[in-house]
Amino acid sequence: MMPIDATLPYDDSNIFARILRGELPCKKVHEDAFSLAFHDINPQAPLHILVIPKGPYVSWDDFSERGSDAEIAGFVRAVGQVARDLGLVAPGYRLLANVGLDSHQEIPHLHVHLFAGQKLGPMLAR
Ligand code: AMP
Repeated sequence: MMPIDATLPYDDSNIFARILRGELPCKKVHEDAFSLAFHDINPQAPLHILVIPKGPYVSWDDFSERGSDAEIAGFVRAVGQVARDLGLVAPGYRLLANVGLDSHQEIPHLHVHLFAGQKLGPMLAR
């Protein structure tokens, strides 16, 4: 897939919007008023979860600018909750959010990747 331009307006035909509307399946691990978390379809670690806000936000940039305080608090707490519920605090985990072209963000709906289940190595490929 091509990386997306994070300055474009929200397009509600994206895959995660369709998952939120129930049009596509997901392997759900958490849901609350503001957030949904599910397994990545192409895992890059033994455990690879995506956490998304339910609102229509293209990226971290969009969410941090337009999200309400309640949505932002709910989402940030959900990311932590998912990791705690999965027992990941002691072994540790990595969070990552791609924003736009240089990061190779592919889906234009904010998602935080949660990687865990093995030693994750250096942050960027060397
Ligand atoms: P990014 O490059 O940060 O936009 O990451 C997009 C992620 O979405 C990739 O890790 C994909 O494997 C994942 N993905 C794409 N389609 C689906 C899907 N239908 N269900 C779960 N994960 C998906």
